[in-house]
Formats: sequence, C-alpha cells, structure tokens
Amino acid sequence: MESALQEQETTLQEARILGVRVHRVCMAEALGRIEQLIQGSEPSLVITADANAILIALEDAEFRELMETAPLVTADGAGLTWAGRRLRQPFPERVSGVDLVEQLTRLSHEKGYRLYFLGAAPGVAERAAQNLLHKYPDAQIVGVQHGYFQPTDEPALIAQIAAVRPDVLLVGMGMPRQEKWAWQHRHALSVPVMIGVGGSFDVYGGVVKRAPYWVQRIGCEWLWRLLQDPRKIKKVRNLPRFAWQVWQAK
Ligand code: UDP
Repeated sequence: MESALQEQETTLQEARILGVRVHRVCMAEALGRIEQLIQGSEPSLVITADANAILIALEDAEFRELMETAPLVTADGAGLTWAGRRLRQPFPERVSGVDLVEQLTRLSHEKGYRLYFLGAAPGVAERAAQNLLHKYPDAQIVGVQHGYFQPTDEPALIAQIAAVRPDVLLVGMGMPRQEKWAWQHRHALSVPVMIGVGGSFDVYGGVVKRAPYWVQRIGCEWLWRLLQDPRKIKKVRNLPRFAWQVWQAK
C-alpha cells in the first residue's frame, strides 16, 4: 500500500513557472491526491497557488521551500494558467481554493471526511459552513473558527482542532501566512491534510460574490474581485511584473 502510494505520488506532472514548482493536475487528479494524503501517516500541506504565490516564492525562502516540498501545489488563477501556456507547460485546468472547498465538502457528504474551517472574519466561516451544508447536508464540518485570533489563544485553538480529529483543515487566512501557520503547527494539529484556501470562506459566507462563469472563462475573475474589494489592488499591481517576467523567461 505504502509503495503503491509513493509510486503514484511521483507521477504527478510538474511545471516550473519562473523556476517555482506547480503541479499540472485537473480537479479530479487533485482530489485523488488529497484522498491519498488523507490516508497518509504524516501531515501534508496543499497549496493553491496563483501568480502572486510565484512572486512571493521568489522573495521568501521559507514559502519557496513549502512550494518545493508540498505533495500538491495547484494552479489557481488566470495569470498562472496563462503563464503555463506561454511557457509550454500548460495546466489542464484551474484548480482554485474556492472550488476545492466545495468539492471537498461534496466528498465529505459522500464519504464522511471530516472537515475543519479555519479563517475569515468572525461569523463568516460559520455562514460558509451553513450555506455549504444546505447543498451537501451530510458533510461532516466538525469545527469552525475565525482567523483573527490572538497569539495567546493559539495553543487552545490548536488543541481544539486536534481534539475533533479532522481529516482536512481548510485554512483561509491569506497567503503565505496560512501555509506557514499550518506547517509550523503541523505536529500539534495532527491533521492529515492542511490546505490554504485564501478568501474562499468569504465567497461561501456571502461576503464577496463569485464572478459569473463567463467572467471566469475569459480570465477576468481578478477584475471582478478588484471591483468588489479595491484593497485587492495590492495584488493586482503585481500582475504586470509577473507577466513581464514570464514573457522574458520564454
Ligand atoms: N484573514 C484571516 N486572518 C487574518 C487576516 C486575513 O482570517 O489575520 C482572512 C480574510 O478575512 C480573508 C482571507 O484571510 O478571508 C484572505 O483572503 P484573500 O483573498 O486576501 O487571500 P488570498 O487568496 O490572497 O490568500
């Protein structure tokens, strides 16, 4: 079993975007890998990377190391899928944190996986859980906690998460903090799979509206998000720098 698992683990295709590693997987493959990792004996980190993640990795050695070693790094966002095409290492599809949250809730409904939602402003992840439970009533969302806790509350929070034994911890506290936090506390948390999902709880909690499908299809979800939350300009400002570096890298 162990060797079969390892064998499959080596078969995921990788792209190198500005030297940074991202897996070339579709949603079905990503979910398959996550289900394997749930059965694993060590805690694993899953990263949903957008163009900004690549730029962060180029400047932040700790985050770069997580991107290099995570058993699953998916391509989230039009900027990164464009870069994959441009560099002739196309991604089969976008595998976003937002979509993973819903797909994992569906799998939980079907197979009983235990999910924990950590992140977003007080009340938001609860609403997200309630809304998702309407659609997937048998999903096992075994705990919910907002992402604005004090450092002094951390030990109790970690103990509380560990006590309810989730299979998957979804952490929506912004990149790269969510990945670093989860990895730093992996032993105490003792959760098989930890996934950084950024602002996904805001989407399901009704704080932000997801772009219509046609806007996603034409690669403009970033513009939709920017119009809803002008603070996102910080991230959008980085996109030309990313595009320029990819353009030159060819
Ligand atoms: N957030 C949090 N704790 C913090 C700071 C942010 O839980 O201390 C949440 C915030 O409310 C939002 C998410 O983290 O729900 C970040 O969303 P964003 O879309 O900016 O993240 P990204 O996808 O860029 O990582």
